[in-house]
Order: sequence, then C-alpha cells, then structure tokens
Amino acid sequence: MRTVSMKQMLLQAQADGYAVGQYNINGVQWVQAILRAAQAEQAPVILAASDRLVSFLGGYALIAAIVDKSIQELSITVPVALHLDHGMSVEHCKQAIDNGFSSVMIDGSHYPIEQNIAMTLEVVKYASSFGVSVEAEVGTVGGMEDGLIGGIQYADPLECDRLVKETGVDALAAALGSVHGPYQGEPLLGFAEMKHISDLTGVPLVLHGGSGIPAHQIRQAIELGHAKINVNTECIQAWASAVRTVLNQNPQLYDPSHILTPGTEAIQQVVQNKMQEFGTSGQAMHTV
Ligand SMILES: [Zn+2]
Repeated sequence: MRTVSMKQMLLQAQADGYAVGQYNINGVQWVQAILRAAQAEQAPVILAASDRLVSFLGGYALIAAIVDKSIQELSITVPVALHLDHGMSVEHCKQAIDNGFSSVMIDGSHYPIEQNIAMTLEVVKYASSFGVSVEAEVGTVGGMEDGLIGGIQYADPLECDRLVKETGVDALAAALGSVHGPYQGEPLLGFAEMKHISDLTGVPLVLHGGSGIPAHQIRQAIELGHAKINVNTECIQAWASAVRTVLNQNPQLYDPSHILTPGTEAIQQVVQNKMQEFGTSGQAMHTV
C-alpha cells in the first residue's frame, strides 16, 4: 500500500464528526512510531515533513522513500498520507509532489491575499493532475512559523471564503488563536469566528498548533468544522523526556538503540492517545 491523498480522509472525518491527526516527522523513529500507532488504533493518519526541516531529514525523495518502505516493512494497512507542512514556495510544493508526497500545504499566509490566492491556485493546478491534496493558510498562527517567531493574527472570514472559492483547495488552515510550540496558560481559540468561516467556506478546517489544547476545546473545534489537527510539540517533548531519562539513569550507556527506543515508544503512546481523543481510532475501515 502506498500513501494516499488526504482529501477523502478529511471529507469523511468532516461528515462523521471526528478529526484526522497530522503528526510531524523528525527522524526515522517518528515514521515507525506514528505508523505503528495508526495500525494499532486502526486509524487513518497523516505523516508530515515540515518544509524547513526537509534538508535535515535528507530531502523530499528520501523522506517519501522512507515512508513508503516503512509502510511495506511494517505491513501497514490503514490509509496513510504523506504531507508537506508549511510549504514555503510553489517550487518546493512541486518538488515534494514530484518526489512522491501525496499531499502538500502551500503557506502563502505571510503574503497579501491576492498573492496567497495566486500561489495556492498554481499549486492546486499542479497537484490535481497527480491526485495530490492541497492545504492553504489564511491569517497567522502564533509562535514559530517557517522559522519566524510571530504574533497571532486572526484569519479574515471573507479572505478565507475568497481563497477557497477561487482555488478549490482541499483544506484550509484559518488561524484563530492557536500557537506553534507550548502555550502560555489556557489557549484562547476564536470559536465564533471558527463557526463563521466553516459555514461560509464548507471546506475541512485545519487546526495548527494542536499540542496542549484541552480536550473540551478540541471537541468544540471538531464540532465547528476542524477535520485535521496538527500535533508535533507533544510528540517531541515526550521523545526528549524519555531519551533524557534513559541517559540520566544510565550515564555509561552509549548504544543508540537502547537510548532511542524509549523515545520511539513515547512518541507512539502520545500518537495513540491523540487518535483516541480526536475520534480517529477505528475509522480506517470507513476511509477510502
Ligand atoms: Zn503549522
């Protein structure tokens, strides 16, 4: 089985009132942990490579090969999408598609809306001939985005509506108070604006910065149109904590497999918990 577009996954999730998690890859152990979690939970899953980490991860072609081969090696039968997270340019999105990604995000949110729409439309046109899904963004997610630290800027509902109608994009990240990285205190999401944008556009919404949001807010976000929730920070914190504990408890230890395996197990546990929380567990059989 190869990776698939996330379009069908998200339409199914939107129709049935749950969300599919996007879990970011930070190394080969992440691929294994996330795929094992999805298989154990019988959940459709989106693996993502952040565009700013593509060089660190070895390039688009290697990432796609690792994911494809891991699906075979681990006998994964649930639907898996491989997504480019925060694609920084039209050219990068095309490279990811050419090298086997089944989904891309073009992040034109830092440009004026006209330019954002033009960039998104170019990616949608290219992607559609490959059956690849496309996500776009309006507004600014707080914290670190594309390696830049920025403040929160709410998405404008009319700009969201224009972008969706003029591009035919499959999913929309409408920034409404979420943050990349840890939250300071309780997150404040714009639920009224969320409902407005969801009603207006009808397209599956994407919640960036999904780590550290309390379960009741996650439920409300799903009810108000979110079909995709991005998780990275909780996975990397769990990984770092597990690896740090092993090293602190065993100062003489130097075997990488003994050092890294507890980290892999910690990631898998976080991902399985999220799949249960988002309602993705058990949905693989209902997803094309
Ligand atoms: Zn993001």
